[in-house]
Amino acid sequence: MQIIDTHTHGYFSQFDDDREKMFARCRAAGVRKQIQIGCDEVSTLAALALARKNDDFFSTVGLHPCDVLNVGKPAQYRVAGFENFEPRAKNIDELLEIFENLIEKNHDKIVGIGETGFDRFHDGSEAIFEMQKKSFLGHLKLAEKHDLPLVIHTRSATTELLDFFEKNVAGKNVRGVVHCFSENLETAKIFTEKYGFSLGIGGIVTFLKSDELQKVVREIPLEFLVTETDAPFLPPKNWRKKNSRNEPTALPEIVDKIAELKNQRSDDVAAQLMRNAEQLFGM
Ligand SMILES: [Zn+2]
Repeated sequence: MQIIDTHTHGYFSQFDDDREKMFARCRAAGVRKQIQIGCDEVSTLAALALARKNDDFFSTVGLHPCDVLNVGKPAQYRVAGFENFEPRAKNIDELLEIFENLIEKNHDKIVGIGETGFDRFHDGSEAIFEMQKKSFLGHLKLAEKHDLPLVIHTRSATTELLDFFEKNVAGKNVRGVVHCFSENLETAKIFTEKYGFSLGIGGIVTFLKSDELQKVVREIPLEFLVTETDAPFLPPKNWRKKNSRNEPTALPEIVDKIAELKNQRSDDVAAQLMRNAEQLFGM
């Protein structure tokens, strides 16, 4: 089986002890390409550095909605090779400028904008929501200007996200993916049918209590689905029995689950999912 991980964070410290071995395992498992997703200034640089070092890796530029208040502060976590990193951006506008510069110099490697979006689960205050909106609008502008897909994170913010799309995305020529999709079928239909967005399907689809997501995978045409792990987070069910940490090597379990729900052969489903990802991200 050949497959693509459209959303992974290989630079996180969870992989410090065995990063190269882990990447070798991914390749052996059939993972042909990986998109390293940026969440703030330092992780965006780390994602790009991984993409520069590995022919089969690509990256994004992005400010995670949970990190909008941390811009300009020292990194909240450690990233190998960036231990003494001092952020250059003092605010969101400056960070977006840095992203724009990176895109212009790294057209061959930067394939998406995000993760950006809304997260009202960790902090539901209006103050952070306003910052998330400002950041999201900036990412949207970059996506339009550079013809790159948006990578959207959403948690406990379905109404807000749909409202944002209605006001800012409708009628525009913007494509993208709602990463780690875990909304209901009605919402899935709006994103795919109305906006032409893809849905990122990861480990959650294998969980026992994911009836609604499994319904989404059954009902939404395969052409709108792309595979992802969000590693090191969200390991799929069987992988988790032996590993607390997720990695792209676990992707075949996710593909098999999608194939089972679609009642199709895994290899056929994998081939289509790979085409979907290559087309969406232009790689
Ligand atoms: Zn992520």
